Amino acid sequence: MKCPACGNLESKVVDSRPSDDGSSIRRRRECLQCGRRFTTYERLGDNPLIIIKSDGSSEAYDRQKLMRGLLIACAKRPIAPEQLGALIDSIEAELRNASKSEIGSKELGDMALVRLAKLDDVAYVRFASVYKDFQNVEEFAAALEGLK
Ligand SMILES: [Zn+2]
Repeated sequence: MKCPACGNLESKVVDSRPSDDGSSIRRRRECLQCGRRFTTYERLGDNPLIIIKSDGSSEAYDRQKLMRGLLIACAKRPIAPEQLGALIDSIEAELRNASKSEIGSKELGDMALVRLAKLDDVAYVRFASVYKDFQNVEEFAAALEGLK
């Protein structure tokens, strides 16, 4: 979401609720650069993102699935779930701004890694070492689960 004041693409969601008619999500956002708050209406099911896996198959992007993988990589690390929510918001915002309708699973993983590196070294290494060898976040999550 582009900030109307300064054009910066990174913002955080400060409030999120369905619109009155239920067809979209109304979000209050705060620009990470200038702090300006603005409102966006994001349509549900608009431009669903497709993930292309390394074997060529595809599946619909699932925010919860990505979140699960990140939560496992961040287990016992000093990272709040809200930080991971903001991390995913930032990925989704970048994809939306690039008007992407599909993305490789590896590319998506790399986008998460770049952001994770800024949060926590251990979580980054966990995510990187396992994610890259796997087809998707689900397999990655299962593998990490097995390590515990
Ligand atoms: Zn701004």
